[in-house]
Amino acid sequence: MAKVNAFGRQKGWIEVICGPMFAGKSEELLRRINLLKYSEAKYLLFTPTKDTRSGGKRAKSRDGREFTSISVEKAIDIIGHVNKASEIVQVVAIDEAQFFDEELCNVCNYLANNNYIVLVAGLDMDFDGNPFKTMTNIITVAEKVTKLKAICMTCGAEASFSERLKSAQKKQGGRDQIMIGDIESYEARCRHCHTLSKANPWNFPKLRKAKV
Ligand SMILES: [Zn+2]
Repeated sequence: MAKVNAFGRQKGWIEVICGPMFAGKSEELLRRINLLKYSEAKYLLFTPTKDTRSGGKRAKSRDGREFTSISVEKAIDIIGHVNKASEIVQVVAIDEAQFFDEELCNVCNYLANNNYIVLVAGLDMDFDGNPFKTMTNIITVAEKVTKLKAICMTCGAEASFSERLKSAQKKQGGRDQIMIGDIESYEARCRHCHTLSKANPWNFPKLRKAKV
């Protein structure tokens, strides 16, 4: 029998935390980072410059803990920061990954192949239920995927969708895939309370509903 430990020969891998807005994705990412204080593992946390909500330099969990993050514009910039870090890190964490360019999937693979543990958190769908391609690519190659749910703010069921409120659409210019916002602009919704746009590709001709 081959000599293996509990993790086999695995050294680097990719874990994804995905789901809608208000599901606690960033909190879960920060919780996993926080656990590292019980080990000798060092980490770097990255956020996209497109996300202007955090002020760029710190990620804050809802219970008030702060984690220093590095704000980067392009996914490829992450590799440069990992190389020039003052200490050798073992974990590379990326929050709000849906805002990064599609190169992020290649960057995550490259890091994992070089023995880094890569933790990625982000939205899997935009406000119209369309996949964020950067995320779906990473979900495909990840070893572990955790899909979190929120609570539907209309009916209280489990929610997987993010609804962009009409008032925010009017104020901030329509239905672009990326529109930075929080509780003033978005709500978590279940499939049945979520509104699809007319342009959504699932809007086929009328279908008789299944019996429930
Ligand atoms: Zn609902």
